[in-house]
Amino acid sequence: MTYQTLRVALDGDSADRSYDILTGPGLIDRVGELALPVARGRTAFILTDENVAPLYLGRVQFSLTAAGFNVHHLIVAAGEQSKSFGTLETVLNAMLDARCERTTLLVALGGGIIGDLAGFAASVLLRGVDFIQIPTTLLSQVDSSVGGKTGINTRHGKNLVGTFHQPRLVIADTDTLSTLPQREVLAGYAEVAKYGLIDDAPFWDWLELHGPEVVALSPSPLALAIHTSCTAKARVVAADETETGVRALLNLGHTFGHALEAEGGYGGPLLHGEAVAVGMVMAFDLSAAMGLCPAEDARRVRAHLSTVGLPVVPPKINGAAMDAKALLHHMAGDKKVKDGKVTFVLARGIGQSFLSREVDPADVLRILEQAVS
Ligand code: NAD
Ligand code: MG
Repeated sequence: MTYQTLRVALDGDSADRSYDILTGPGLIDRVGELALPVARGRTAFILTDENVAPLYLGRVQFSLTAAGFNVHHLIVAAGEQSKSFGTLETVLNAMLDARCERTTLLVALGGGIIGDLAGFAASVLLRGVDFIQIPTTLLSQVDSSVGGKTGINTRHGKNLVGTFHQPRLVIADTDTLSTLPQREVLAGYAEVAKYGLIDDAPFWDWLELHGPEVVALSPSPLALAIHTSCTAKARVVAADETETGVRALLNLGHTFGHALEAEGGYGGPLLHGEAVAVGMVMAFDLSAAMGLCPAEDARRVRAHLSTVGLPVVPPKINGAAMDAKALLHHMAGDKKVKDGKVTFVLARGIGQSFLSREVDPADVLRILEQAVS
């Protein structure tokens, strides 16, 4: 079977750090041959989690070995708790125990948690080794595996310690999504829909028609959705690698979403993508309430996300509504706050998002109060 190739074009320094994103079916069994051209040595270290290992580790090991790599691996627990100082230490020591060198290729096999942890480990081990991403969740295939943000969580919050370290290659095997729980598929779909809402109204229109097929993993709509999403992400990353400008548009729905995640507790009632879905609905409702965006567009956002099966209102916790003021407070503590001002991604309509730091907290509170009631 054939696959599609997308180039993430990065410049700005002497070494060429540009890389390819390969998307298509059946790629898991070709990792070895695909990785060879980017590998500086013949040692590979696979990092994966306990859910992904029984499904795909053996096949990746086999493929790498067949291509001539000397292969090591480490399996860590699944879940956010692995994006921690403790697990990072375990990974780095396991790599040193395996006598990894600067030419060792770290292979991240799993979802965004493994990708973020592996990328961070790769960026600091021996002052930096190369890594490749083999994303196995929809979210990681359309979002986290592309762009080079790595990191771990601390007791102060998610993703507060990390680096920018670009992978050498991304291999997204769409077949791996067949084993993913449907709820995780939907969570990833929220990030797919986000690209339409940011700046691609025709893609959004297409999703309104074909979104249900995408979340049912129908091969060609799925391939198109992943390809379009990666193209969008690659374009934004190439324009603004370290998020000093337009890359912040990718946070559409995330300021509200992070507040919902924080209030629910990580590992709580909402997956990240679910929180983003609710957050995008709120961002459009806010934009409509501020008179910036047609109410009809906000309605379409809510209707479509709800149709595919995503939540569009904050969940109740133990039967109780979330507290709007507490949510507002979490937003003020977001990592993207600059000089005490929250940067919002607002919209003039579907596919017309923009950044604003001039949002009245009273307007935000009204949206939150409506949503939780
Ligand atoms: P995840 O890595 O936890 O994967 C979700 C679950 O699915 C896990 O239990 C995992 O073990 C399991 N799984 C993975 N692949 C599977 C498969 N093919 N079949 C069956 N089960 C499978 O979660 P995620 O949603 O992929 O990633 C979330 C993380 O990504 C968060 O930590 C978030 O902060 C991070 N993230 C990073 C970026 C970035 O730019 N670096 C962007 C977005 C999100
Ligand atoms: Mg996200």
